[in-house]
Order: sequence, then C-alpha cells, then structure tokens
Amino acid sequence: MDIRRTFSLNGRPAKAGKTIYWMSRDQRAKDNWALIYAAELAMAADSAFAVLFCLSPDFPNGNSFHYRFMINGLKETAQELEALNIPFYLLIGRPHEKIPEFVRQHKADTLICDFMPLKVPMAWRADVAAALDIPVIEVDAHNVVPCRFVSQKQEYAARTIRPKIHRVLGDFLTEFPKMQKQTTVFSENIQKPDWARAEALYSYSGAFPIVSGAKAAMETLREFADEKLSCYDEKRNNPNFDAQSMMSPYFHFGQVAPQRAALDVMKADAPDEDKDAYIEELIIRRELSDNYCLYNPEYDSIDGADKWALKTLDEHRNDRREYIYPYEAFETAQTHDTLWNAAQMQMRLTGRMHGYMRMYWAKKILEWTESPEDAFRYALLLNDTYALDGRDPNGYVGVAWSVAGVHDRAWTERPVYGKIRYMNRNGCRSKFDVDGYIRKIENIKKGGV
Ligand SMILES: Cc1cc2nc3c(=O)[nH]c(=O)nc-3n(C[C@H](O)[C@H](O)[C@H](O)COP(=O)(O)OP(=O)(O)OC[C@H]3O[C@@H](n4cnc5c(N)ncnc54)[C@H](O)[C@@H]3O)c2cc1C
Repeated sequence: MDIRRTFSLNGRPAKAGKTIYWMSRDQRAKDNWALIYAAELAMAADSAFAVLFCLSPDFPNGNSFHYRFMINGLKETAQELEALNIPFYLLIGRPHEKIPEFVRQHKADTLICDFMPLKVPMAWRADVAAALDIPVIEVDAHNVVPCRFVSQKQEYAARTIRPKIHRVLGDFLTEFPKMQKQTTVFSENIQKPDWARAEALYSYSGAFPIVSGAKAAMETLREFADEKLSCYDEKRNNPNFDAQSMMSPYFHFGQVAPQRAALDVMKADAPDEDKDAYIEELIIRRELSDNYCLYNPEYDSIDGADKWALKTLDEHRNDRREYIYPYEAFETAQTHDTLWNAAQMQMRLTGRMHGYMRMYWAKKILEWTESPEDAFRYALLLNDTYALDGRDPNGYVGVAWSVAGVHDRAWTERPVYGKIRYMNRNGCRSKFDVDGYIRKIENIKKGGV
C-alpha cells in the first residue's frame, strides 16, 4: 500500500505487529486500503489482525433508517471477513469510551482507522489517538487520491483541485490486491457481534429503496457500467431518466470503493465522453467535497462561504420574499410549487432525490426562507434526515454550493439571491418534462414505481 495514504494521528510511526483496524467510514472487506495496510503490518511481523466496528449513537442527524441500512451492510461485511479468517468485533457505545480499552485488552501494536473529514468522526479519532500510547494511523481508503496528500489547503473550486488530482492519478488509480485468508490467530476467544442488540437500538420497520451491502453495490455498479453509462453525459441531468449510477449511498457507507467504480467504469464499453463525465463527478467533485470539509471548520454553516457570497447575501437580506415557509412546510412538501413538492416527496418516499432536482430544491429554500442562515440549516437538515446518502461531505458541499456559492462564481445580481446562481422552474422546463417528473413522483406516492 502507498504510504502517502497514511497519516499518524498521534505522531507515532506505524509499527509492524498485532494490528486492529477500527473500521468506520469504509465498511467493506474488499478493495479497502485501510484493511490492506492492517494486513501488511500484521504479516510483516508474523502477527495477526482484526477488524473492529464501534456503533456510536452520536453521528449527527443519523436516524434509524440510516443506522439499519448500515447494520444490514455490516452483517455482510462481517461474514466476508470471517470467511477470510479475519475476526470482526462489534462494540456499541462512544468510540473514546470503548476503543482504547479494547485495544489495550488485545495488546495491539498499531491501531489503523479510516479517513472521514467531518467534525464528529474526526473528534472520535483524535480522542482515541490521544488515549492510546501505540501508533494510531489513519488511512484514506475513501478517496482515490488521498485527501491530505493532494492538497494541504482549502481548494477554491474544481478547476484548482483538478490539475492536482490528475497529476498523480496514475499513481493511485491502481488495481487493489486481493485479500488473502489470514493464517495467524488473533485471539483464542473471539466474541461474536451482537447484531440483535444493535438492531434493537434502531428499530425500523419501513422498506429500503435499495438493498444494503457490498454485493448489491457491485450489482448496481455493473448494471450502470453495462446499461446506463453510455448515455450518462447526455441524460444525467434529466430527472425523468435513471441515467445516474445511484451509487451515492453505497459510497457514503463505504460498501464499495469509489476507486473500484472508477476502475470498472474506465474498463467499460462506453464512449469516452461518458466515462470522462462520470470520472469528473466521482473523483474531482466528490474529492473536492472532502477537501472542503477537511480544511474549512465552518463547512456545516453558511459562515464557511467565501466573502463575496456572504457580502452579496447580506446585501439582499431584507429583500421582499414572495413566499416564506417554516421548516415544517418544507418537510411536508406543502409549498405553492408542485415541482419543488415533488422533489421533496421523492426524497421522503425513496430516500433519494435526483441530482439535478437537488440543486433546484436547495436554491428555492434560499428564496423562500427569512434568511440565508435559515435556508442553509433547513436544506441541510432535510437532506441529512431523509436522504440515504446524507450526512456526507457531498451533502454539506451540495447545500453550500446551492445556497452560498461555494466552489461557484458570482452571477448576475437579482433579488434575494444577490450574485448566487439562480434557478427557476422555466429553466427546468427547458431541460426536461417537468409535468412528467411530477406525475412520476405522484405515481410513487400511490404505490407505483
Ligand atoms: C443540495 C444538494 C445536496 C446534496 N447532497 C448529497 C449528499 O447528501 N450525498 C451525496 O453523496 N451527494 C450529495 N449531493 C451531490 C449529488 O447530487 C449526488 O452525489 C448524486 O446526485 C448522487 O447520485 P448518483 O450516485 O446516482 O450520482 P452519479 O451522477 O452517478 O455520480 C457518481 C458519484 O459522483 C459523486 N458526485 C456526483 N455529483 C456530485 C456532486 N455534485 N458533488 C460531489 N460529488 C458528486 C457522488 O459520489 C456520486 O455517487 C448533493 C447535491 C446538492 C446540490
């Protein structure tokens, strides 16, 4: 494994020997650089390694819908690991209260964790690292080009991170080694995960829009590469076509590596412009979101936006709004705009909103709330609560882009928006069949597909 993916969280260098991988963001047994590195460290000293997952109640805005989807996927991961003779431990509680004790009890030489640039999981890692006197090494198993390596500052826009990523993409976009069956014994007494206890904490009886887990993720990826990729560039912005890959929940829960998606898409039989368009979203845009959250401590509020955006929004703070809705009206899709309501209903009913509609949806929240601060909060909370892929760097940046011009530029000035890019229903009409989209969502509401 390329050690440029690693970062010591307590200044101690990695040590070969008994290793524990604290799995958190990258919840998979295959194509996982953090797991691969844990195996390498253990094997270098003829020692053993294991995987630990700590189910913490603290993930911001996570609800039973998200937790149960995650638990379903983790069960499959645990089985895959067990087949490789890699023990999977499930702890329940706060990481800094549970993990140091577990690591000490098992006398590990190194603790590996994966990379997630959001504040709460970063604080978990920092607290655990501070509590241990063995090396705690973070491995960026999520980004194709490691986030900390590609840039040491907040990038201004896609155009500034793109050349940095492309310069080293060849080094990192390589095939993954296959995990070998472990031949050493981690412990004589392995405690099986108590899934019933975990599930009892997050009771959820509703359906899921997609099947959780690495197998389903790979099937979705295969179907996309075989059947949809060749019209991705032309149709991805049309909410009436399912030309997008639908992979975002699988990436969010780490059930498949974005790097696997990149490798498979590049090998697919499809025109180059479609492959390039997908790689731009999958690598450049997605990794730009991680960069924003890592280096901007205000990523979760409007205060993270650039000065020009804050200034223009402030100048239009007192502009007359044609409509102002409270949070509940947005949540229950009770605005005057049937297109907006349809988008909100799509997210509530299916856990997903089409990418193009997400932009329109968030911008209208800016137009119909009392302040940009409220708009940011409402959009984020709705997205995090109802979208299966929410609570992700992409969600923070998606909202910040729509409401506060992050990674965008100034546009023609107009009421309420100031110089933030504007979108309206007529613009949507010129791009797709708006009535057809509303009918499609009505049909889902009535129990159709
Ligand atoms: C207001 C708003 C909120 C959003 N919230 C989220 C969120 O919570 N989680 C999330 O993953 N994405 C979010 N996005 C970004 C984007 O809309 C989704 O990633 C995409 O629609 C997911 O569907 P897909 O996997 O079928 O995408 P595809 O078009 O198939 O793209 C493949 C992958 O590329 C990445 N990608 C695509 N578009 C973007 C983008 N604009 N920015 C960053 N990465 C991108 C995603 O990882 C995606 O899974 C948001 C965008 C907006 C405007």
